[in-house]
Amino acid sequence: MSKTLLILPGDGIGPEIVAEAVKVIEWLNEHADLGLELEHDLIGGQAYDEYGAPLADGTLEKCRRADAILMGSVGGPQWDGVDYDKRPEAGLLRLRKELDLFANLRPALVFDALVDASSLKPEIVKGLDILIVRELTGGVYFGEPRGIEDLGNGERRGFNTQTYTTSEIRRIGRVAFDLARKRNQRVTSCEKANVMESGKLWREEITELHRAEFHDVELEHMYADNAAMQLCRNPHQFDVIVTDNLFGDILSDEAAMLTGSLGMLPSASLGAEGTPGLYEPAHGSAPDIAGQNIANPLATILSLSMAIRYSFERGDLADALDAAVQDTLNQGTRTGDIMADGCTQVSTSEMGDALLKNLSQSKALAA
Ligand code: NAD
Repeated sequence: MSKTLLILPGDGIGPEIVAEAVKVIEWLNEHADLGLELEHDLIGGQAYDEYGAPLADGTLEKCRRADAILMGSVGGPQWDGVDYDKRPEAGLLRLRKELDLFANLRPALVFDALVDASSLKPEIVKGLDILIVRELTGGVYFGEPRGIEDLGNGERRGFNTQTYTTSEIRRIGRVAFDLARKRNQRVTSCEKANVMESGKLWREEITELHRAEFHDVELEHMYADNAAMQLCRNPHQFDVIVTDNLFGDILSDEAAMLTGSLGMLPSASLGAEGTPGLYEPAHGSAPDIAGQNIANPLATILSLSMAIRYSFERGDLADALDAAVQDTLNQGTRTGDIMADGCTQVSTSEMGDALLKNLSQSKALAA
């Protein structure tokens, strides 16, 4: 039975970069039996203009019915004056909430050809391949009580609550251990068990889950502040990092910067079994370069690769696609954001074409 991928291009550069991913899907459908049926709809500012809401109910229904969703990006200055709950970003937040996408996967991959783009020394980041698994729907960003109160003495008090339950910790831990089994069998769990009760519970629950179900995977616990330091000092020590919403927000941005290029960073948000995964580049809608055919489509194409791997279970095709990205970069083909001396600068669509050419010559697919 064929599977459905819902395409939500969004705003700004979204339609341009997603169009290149669609070219790849069509090629894989035709030549590698990917068997994906595509549906299309609007999200973000485009959806607000067309439907009066950044995520229309009908679109949400289509999302629920799809096997996975590939999104471009949302937002832009033309919607700055719109009410907060109708802003493009509100559409994306609603989608994550309605589908309960509690696990955010952010790989930090350093391609050999781009090793000089990192702000760290090449010998520290060369060959880097880390996966950060961030809890996305709980913790201090959502915990109650929260607010700002007037203390009546000229002082105000701002407060938020960090809270996690056993099941919230175990379900994100399970995602991380499962992924580590498909990678290098190592999980580093990060919290602040030394100063926070929620961190102490996090450590106990992850330890128990590991003992009961995942003792074949290596587990290490690390305080989140130390993890931030170790990511810069010796990032190769990590394979999968699992952490809460707040620490994950910070550690995933830090790890992303080890790679040096925003246009290369994919992401996935996953929910419970049977829920469609949401795949999108980590960057925004880049209104400053929208409509010029100069944006880098590779983060979106790598997000598609994650969809093919995690939602459609075709690791063979995802490997071939990742290798084609690697080959394209090795040949010196670059969009403006990753341009370097001696390389050839290409447009968004030329980057897609170069990648397809490498994919069509893939030894892995021919085998
Ligand atoms: P941004 O990521 O859109 O852009 C930051 C800089 O990186 C810009 O100079 C941009 O040109 C460049 N850039 C980003 N992606 C690129 C690509 N693929 N190729 C080449 N260059 C690229 O961040 P911003 O400027 O802070 O935000 C712009 C809009 O995007 C805002 O409305 C923001 O709310 C939205 N946004 C959306 C998402 C999302 O959809 N998940 C994420 C972040 C920001």
